[in-house]
Amino acid sequence: MKKGGTPDLLVVGGGVWGTWTALQARRLGASVQLIEEREPGHPQTTSGDHSRIIRHSHGEDTLLLSWAQRSLAAWKELGAQVGEEIFVNTGVAWFVSGTGVWEGSSELRMREAGVPCERLTVDEALRRWPAVAGDHVRYVLLEPTAGFLRAGDGVRAAARALREEGGEIIRGRATPAADGTALDESGAPISAGATVWAAGPWLPTLFPALVGADAEASIVPTRRDAIYFDAPGMGLGEIPTWIDEGLAVWGIPDERGHGTKVGPEFDNGSFNPSEWPDAAHPGSIERARSCAVRFPRLSDAPIRESRACQHERTKSGHYVLDQHPDNPQVWLAGGGSGHGYKQGPAVGEMVARAALHRDPLVLPDRRFALRNRAGGPSSPMGDMGEPNS
Ligand SMILES: Cc1cc2nc3c(=O)[nH]c(=O)nc-3n(C[C@H](O)[C@H](O)[C@H](O)COP(=O)(O)OP(=O)(O)OC[C@H]3O[C@@H](n4cnc5c(N)ncnc54)[C@H](O)[C@@H]3O)c2cc1C
Repeated sequence: MKKGGTPDLLVVGGGVWGTWTALQARRLGASVQLIEEREPGHPQTTSGDHSRIIRHSHGEDTLLLSWAQRSLAAWKELGAQVGEEIFVNTGVAWFVSGTGVWEGSSELRMREAGVPCERLTVDEALRRWPAVAGDHVRYVLLEPTAGFLRAGDGVRAAARALREEGGEIIRGRATPAADGTALDESGAPISAGATVWAAGPWLPTLFPALVGADAEASIVPTRRDAIYFDAPGMGLGEIPTWIDEGLAVWGIPDERGHGTKVGPEFDNGSFNPSEWPDAAHPGSIERARSCAVRFPRLSDAPIRESRACQHERTKSGHYVLDQHPDNPQVWLAGGGSGHGYKQGPAVGEMVARAALHRDPLVLPDRRFALRNRAGGPSSPMGDMGEPNS
C-alpha cells in the first residue's frame, strides 16, 4: 500500500487485541493501518500493565482453552522473533479452597487437550513454595507450562513486528460514522476495505447503542487495582503465578524489581478510562492484604507500586466479537472482561481472517454476539452481575 492509500484493513485501537489483529492481517498479506490515540501498550490502557496471566484453565470452556493454546505458541514465537522474553514460564497454581468444581472441570479438559497439569497435595505445595500457607486449601492444581506475559512489552513487541513487516501505525483518534466506518479527527472519512474497532474500554462511548450500558452486549468499565508489594522470598522461582478463587485474588511473582503483584477480584465502582487515578483504592489494598492468609509475608509488606486499571467487562463475562449489524465490513472486538490479554494472538487472527473474508468467524454459539447473545459454558469470570459501588 502506498502511503496515504486505502488499506485493506483499518484497525482502531493499539491494545493487545488491535495490535495482534493488525499483525495477523499483515501476515495474511493484507495492507494494514493501525490508528492509536496514545501508543501501543501505553500504561493507561488495559493492556499496558507490567504483566498478565496466561493459563489454560477455563472450566468447561474448551473453546477458550484452545485459543489459549494457540495464543501461547504465538507469544513464544513473537518473543523469539523480537529477541525478548515476553512469556515467563512460572507455572500457574490454583489454590483450591472452594467446591473445586471449576478447577476439576479445567483439569479434565486440559488432560483431554494434552495440556500438562498436576495435582499437588498441600504438603507438596508447601515444600515447593515455602512462602505459601495452606490454610483451607484442599489441593493445588498446577499448570506447569503456563505463567505470565510481560503485558505492555508484549504489545510493544507486536507493534514493532507490525511495522517491520510492513504495517502502518498512525497516532490519532478515530470516531465512528453512522455506518460504523471511521472518521479522523477532522471528521473526514478514513477509507479502508474493512474496519475493526478494538478500542477496549472506550468502545461503549464510541458505540453506545451496540455496547453501551443498556445494550445486550454491554461493556462496562469498572475499576480494579493491582498492588505490587516489596515482599522478600516471593520472586521468580520462589512462588508460582497463582490464583485463589476462594479468596477471589490472584498474584504474580516479583520480577525485574516491579514487586510481588496481587490482584483482588473486586470492582471499585465505575471507571472513566480517560481519567486514571494514581493511587490504589483503600478497598483494594485491604483485599490484597487479606491474602496474607495464603502468603503471610504480605501482611506487613510495604507497597512498592499500585496501578488502577479499567476492567472492561460484559455482564456475562464473555467477550464481544461481532460484525456491525448495519455494515458487514465493520467489526467490533472488545469486552476482555479480565481475561482477554492472553488471547490476543488467537482473537486477532480470527478477527483478521473474518474481516478480510478469508474465513468466516465460525463459533459454536452466540456468546460473543452483539445481539441475541446465548449459549456456551459460563465464562471464566462467571456472571458478573452489577459492579460493586
Ligand atoms: C486488573 C486487570 C487484570 C487483568 N488480568 C488479566 C490476566 O491476568 N490475563 C488476561 O489474559 N487478561 C487480563 N486482564 C484483561 C486484559 O488486560 C484485557 O482484556 C486486554 O488487555 C484488553 O485489550 P484491548 O486491546 O481490548 O484494550 P486496550 O488495551 O485498552 O486497548 C484499547 C486501545 O484503543 C485505543 N483507543 C481507544 N479509543 C480510541 C480511538 N477512538 N481512536 C484510536 N485509538 C483508541 C486506546 O488508546 C488503547 O490503546 C486484566 C484486566 C484488568 C483490568
